[in-house]
Amino acid sequence: MVDLLVVVPHPDDESFGSGGALLLAKRAGLRTGVLTLTRGEAGRTLGLCPREALGQVRTEELRKAAAILEVDHLEVLDFPNGLPQGAEGEGRGQARGPGLLEHPEAEAAIRERLLGLRPRFVLTFPPDGLNGHPDHVAASRYATRAAEGLAQVVYFVRPEGPWPVTHRLRLPEWALVRKLQALAQHRTQALSVLGFMERYPERLWVESFYVVGRSPAEEVREEPWW
Ligand SMILES: [Zn+2]
Repeated sequence: MVDLLVVVPHPDDESFGSGGALLLAKRAGLRTGVLTLTRGEAGRTLGLCPREALGQVRTEELRKAAAILEVDHLEVLDFPNGLPQGAEGEGRGQARGPGLLEHPEAEAAIRERLLGLRPRFVLTFPPDGLNGHPDHVAASRYATRAAEGLAQVVYFVRPEGPWPVTHRLRLPEWALVRKLQALAQHRTQALSVLGFMERYPERLWVESFYVVGRSPAEEVREEPWW
């Protein structure tokens, strides 16, 4: 049983999108979980491992990050990881077909976990997937549908829209330290980490959320939603 379950497609999404929320929820006494739908085998290898080993290596990176984030429950499913648009080229692991969007049965797999774990909150990508990655879009769709009638869905969103921000978490120093350490476990994805730091450094210590269905308050609540 968990109180808060993060549902994302790739190892590293949990730390980027919700590392702070996971830490603060845990500190507040909630039980937390991460369900990853793919093993991220189509990501970059940076030459750190053979292409065919990337799924295994990223699963291991995720285990280390989840331990730092003090996650109570971690499960990694093995749906295929799709490539983002324009990412074809060398230096990647092995994609198996077009990815998660072509696997709507993932919704039932998520629902089965929700029935077992009974989270009160499911935290995932907003419907546009934040950066448009088709796996992010798919994960948002499946998780939102799977949670119907079972859990409150919460999206981690950009501060500037298009989804309303209802809650904002400003991470205290101890949580930022741990989130950065968790991100650093995703060694094979170091270029994603650096790209994020270059474009959105403030999102490392300020996480924005939309509690789905909540009418956006005039003022964003600077407090957790749980
Ligand atoms: Zn991702």
